[in-house]
Amino acid sequence: MRTRIAAGRVIDPAHRRDGIGDVWVDDGRIIDAPPSGTAADQTFNATGKIVMAGAIDIHSHIAGWNVNTARLLLPEFHRAATPRPAGTPLSNAGWSTFATGCLYAEMGFTTVVEPAVLPHYALHAHLELADTPIIDTATLAVLGNDDFLLALIRDRESATAVEDYVAWTLDAARALGVKVVNAGGSLALKANVRQFGFDDVVPDYGVSSREIVKTLQRATHALGVPHPLHVHCNNLGMAGSDATALTTIAAAEGLPLHLAHLQFYGYGKEGARGFSSAAPQLAEAVNGAKSVTIDVGQVMFGQTVTVSLDTLRQFNSRNHARPRKWVLLEGDANGGGIVPYNYRAGDFYNAVQWAVGLELFLLIDDPWRVFFTTDHPNGAPFTTYPEIFALLMDRDLRAQQIAALPPDAMAVTTLPGIAREYSLSEIATMTRAAPARLLGLTDRGHLGAGAVADIAVYSDDRDRAKMFRAAALVFKDGELVVRDGVVTRYRAGRALTVQPGRDRAIDRRMTRYYDERYGLSDAYIKIPDHAVGRPFGLVPCAR
Ligand SMILES: [Zn+2]
Repeated sequence: MRTRIAAGRVIDPAHRRDGIGDVWVDDGRIIDAPPSGTAADQTFNATGKIVMAGAIDIHSHIAGWNVNTARLLLPEFHRAATPRPAGTPLSNAGWSTFATGCLYAEMGFTTVVEPAVLPHYALHAHLELADTPIIDTATLAVLGNDDFLLALIRDRESATAVEDYVAWTLDAARALGVKVVNAGGSLALKANVRQFGFDDVVPDYGVSSREIVKTLQRATHALGVPHPLHVHCNNLGMAGSDATALTTIAAAEGLPLHLAHLQFYGYGKEGARGFSSAAPQLAEAVNGAKSVTIDVGQVMFGQTVTVSLDTLRQFNSRNHARPRKWVLLEGDANGGGIVPYNYRAGDFYNAVQWAVGLELFLLIDDPWRVFFTTDHPNGAPFTTYPEIFALLMDRDLRAQQIAALPPDAMAVTTLPGIAREYSLSEIATMTRAAPARLLGLTDRGHLGAGAVADIAVYSDDRDRAKMFRAAALVFKDGELVVRDGVVTRYRAGRALTVQPGRDRAIDRRMTRYYDERYGLSDAYIKIPDHAVGRPFGLVPCAR
């Protein structure tokens, strides 16, 4: 069926397109405009509307046992969208996997990456993602606190051995890329270490955090995995964490490296309270390190819950829990931690955090290298994205909000003096074209012929938050799924994975390892094709 989205303002930075025109779709894909006079089977009038590719979120915690533990810890925050009979378990559970898919689609997002999946728990994450309607999803497999990798490094095994292990893990866990969370820090916590930096050494292994990050960065690159190693740095959230981030950026050494939620490392020690924005220094370092990409992890004010595999950090922040309850799980490798938190506009530290995120967005020059995240739900729920788009696009709106925040907090940031406003094209770059390129998803993030027909149409409105909150139309694979901000059709998305080549000798070695170490078959962590009841989409690797 041939569909025409007619006469909208088409913003497609991948093809340097920003102008009034049509977008044509056939059989789930975007096609070149046919000769004029060709009739469409259906036409949507997009006059006065903005047409973009579907948005892509590269880092949002939406599935897996950590997220599920947060749901169980905080039943009082569930919204009763479809109440179950009172008195039954989870009778008021509202924000389910089902709601996640719908809420994303209603904002025009069509692909989301869950960035923190421990390989041993990957099946659970994939089952939840398969239950998340409409959007395509992918996962990042977390390595770097696991015994097998650290033993490889300790024993000075070859780069090839590490590459084979990484390739085996990506295949077993059906992931799109590799992440490392506080490399070595979770293992150090188990040895009663309470602070762990980039050049500190993991007890029992004699391996530094730097060695772990560099080893995984090189292996990911050598395997030709499109997405570079995704790094959650050490010392998250601490005054002086800017030094850790700067050291990690320098350690990229010209090879691709992605730093997650950089906002949480943008804190210097200046000012009367010893807590200040270091965003200008971090932005300068990112601007100069062309192989480095970052996402922001913007903080917005309100109640949320922090969900992290960084058990060292979560242990240290447990006393800040609001409400006062938390969960820390010591598991294989990373374990995990859940600490609810309430960001308050009147709080000095929270106001600085809010400003640091916006400074990073506005001081990093290249929208192809700075990615839009709140580290959902850690900085804020993803439902706050429309408000953040509005803040980036309107300095007057920022000034209004700055005026309501503690002046001493704003005094230790540069935000009040920043005039930059994002254009719609820059927003489209940061949320569509750039993330597709960063993840190796050549079939999306743009509106060129051959792309999957994931398309978001917004009613052009001076109130950008209102505009981005409720897309006028959203198409997934060419099918209309949202109209006037409401889901009109449910469909299953795909799970996107990579499968880089490996020497199969690693398979026999892993079978032996699981048998000797756990008394388990390695099939225990492998996700077979049929397990989740939906197709996997294979993203090509360079090797
Ligand atoms: Zn995260």
